[in-house]
Amino acid sequence: MQLTITNLTKTYGNGVRALNDVSLTMNAGLFGLLGPNGAGKSSLMRTIATLQEADAGSITFSGPFGDIDVFAQPDALRQRLGYLPQEFGVYPRIAAETLLDHLAVLKGITNGKERKETVSALLHKTNLYNVRSKNLGGYSGGMKQRFGIAQALLANPSLIIVDEPTAGLDPGERNRFLNLLGELGEDRIIILSTHIVEDVQELCRDMAIVNKGTVLFQGHPDAALATVAGRVWRKRVTKAELADLKQNATVISERMSAGDPVVHVLADSQPDDGFRAIEPTLEDVYFMNILGLQKQPS
Ligand code: ADP
Repeated sequence: MQLTITNLTKTYGNGVRALNDVSLTMNAGLFGLLGPNGAGKSSLMRTIATLQEADAGSITFSGPFGDIDVFAQPDALRQRLGYLPQEFGVYPRIAAETLLDHLAVLKGITNGKERKETVSALLHKTNLYNVRSKNLGGYSGGMKQRFGIAQALLANPSLIIVDEPTAGLDPGERNRFLNLLGELGEDRIIILSTHIVEDVQELCRDMAIVNKGTVLFQGHPDAALATVAGRVWRKRVTKAELADLKQNATVISERMSAGDPVVHVLADSQPDDGFRAIEPTLEDVYFMNILGLQKQPS
């Protein structure tokens, strides 16, 4: 199974170029699409989901079902797609089980017995079975997102798109949601769009970093880490030192720790005695790409 995105470009009416010659290849399993707000992730997700058109480029979805040219055959793609949009609206005064049953009818599961079994299996899978009679309005953010996955799975899709699913979830809910995504199996492509580095680090064997509509990296998270191996240095500094470093070094990130800034700097050799080499994290790679740092001499 493969999703191939080739030279996709999209400029909105207001002149914003949301996708700039985007090419990506995704195979079965979880694919992490990582980028800051405004990077173009939702534009890409909506284009793959056939909810909006691109100006140029193509998308092909290939599998046991043949090759689907997504722009020429949007219905064929939709039949194999489960989509959890960023803003997933639910009807607050209806019980989860009832809504899932309605949605199953809309998806064409008209046989009553089959539908009951499907709905029940999905409620179990998403760990909502015990709260199936509760109105959706009373669900927590995490429960709503898991319900979103249940509805996305209704037609047993080969392609699942989840757009920023963990934003706004508390750590426990986020873990439950990520575990659920991890269990969805290897026989489909799952695209997880997120601005949260840990989401990708924990789950994905393939990933891309995007910013300003452009793909900056695609590959295994380990390959991303290898791009900065041995070049990330850490130091606890004073505020004055920080200002100086910002002028004279390549600062990847700074955060406060016990009242003082801790900086990560990109450099080929130890900047000064106070710096310690560290094992880079995906967050280092992410910031480095987003800030365009690798293009500067270090
Ligand atoms: P992300 O999902 O990574 O936050 P988006 O795809 O939502 O990024 O947005 C990419 C860029 O396109 C942003 O600058 C955003 O303001 C702009 N944009 C998104 N949707 C529209 C739209 N319908 N009309 C005009 N500009 C848009």
